[in-house]
Amino acid sequence: MRKALVAGNWKMNGSLDANRELLSALSGAMQASDAVAVAVCPPAVYLRDALAQLESGAIAVGGQDCSDEKSGAFTGEIAADMLKEVGCEYVIVGHSERRARQHEDSAWVARKFIAAQAAGLVPILCVGEQLADREAGRTDAVVAEQLDAVLDAAGVAAFDRAVVAYEPVWAIGTGLTASPEQAAEVHAFIRARVSARDQGVAEGLRILYGGSVKADNAAGLFALPDIDGGLIGGASLDAASFIGIVNAAVAAQARG
Ligand code: PEP
Repeated sequence: MRKALVAGNWKMNGSLDANRELLSALSGAMQASDAVAVAVCPPAVYLRDALAQLESGAIAVGGQDCSDEKSGAFTGEIAADMLKEVGCEYVIVGHSERRARQHEDSAWVARKFIAAQAAGLVPILCVGEQLADREAGRTDAVVAEQLDAVLDAAGVAAFDRAVVAYEPVWAIGTGLTASPEQAAEVHAFIRARVSARDQGVAEGLRILYGGSVKADNAAGLFALPDIDGGLIGGASLDAASFIGIVNAAVAAQARG
């Protein structure tokens, strides 16, 4: 059985004081669980403080992005090796906000995925369609293009050490959530696409759902067979909401 992952993407939110308060509430409520892995991805400047506060290890830490380059004249960028050196376990790559604002295309995201794995990090690869894509019936084509770029560049075996997050762009931060049926369809599509290259890798691959997941809709999503946890934005900034989502994942795992 795949071990679910619930990861909080804090985006550009927080402060030293607010983070300390949030992390102390989270670590007070969470034990290292065999059933569900939990991670938080704070802004890069706060990673060291978060890691120091979370040294018990029940909650892992990840970066929100990494460079595709190893080192050098890349002002403002952060190398995957640096994230690994300070103690990160995960890094998000290809988030839709970066694909849109930084114009990251799928080939660039694939290079970041490869750089992350070379550094020993587990990439959380985000894929997902815009509302216009869904309305035009292009959801599968968009997701396939984003996924295939990484499968082609990194090879399917690399997905043994990776996580995919399906995040319909129209559901991110909008309060709109994909219905369980819509999410289930795309999750099954992603698993089948990986399975066409390697069935064993596909069966072990964690595919998270992201897009306005809250404590009250998490149970319905996590009950679906191809949904292995969530990538949580807004609700990860509120301790009670995030703990509620983690508990929904633990309950879903317990039901099998
Ligand atoms: C995200 O940005 O990864 C995300 C899922 O955000 P939200 O939960 O706020 O929709």
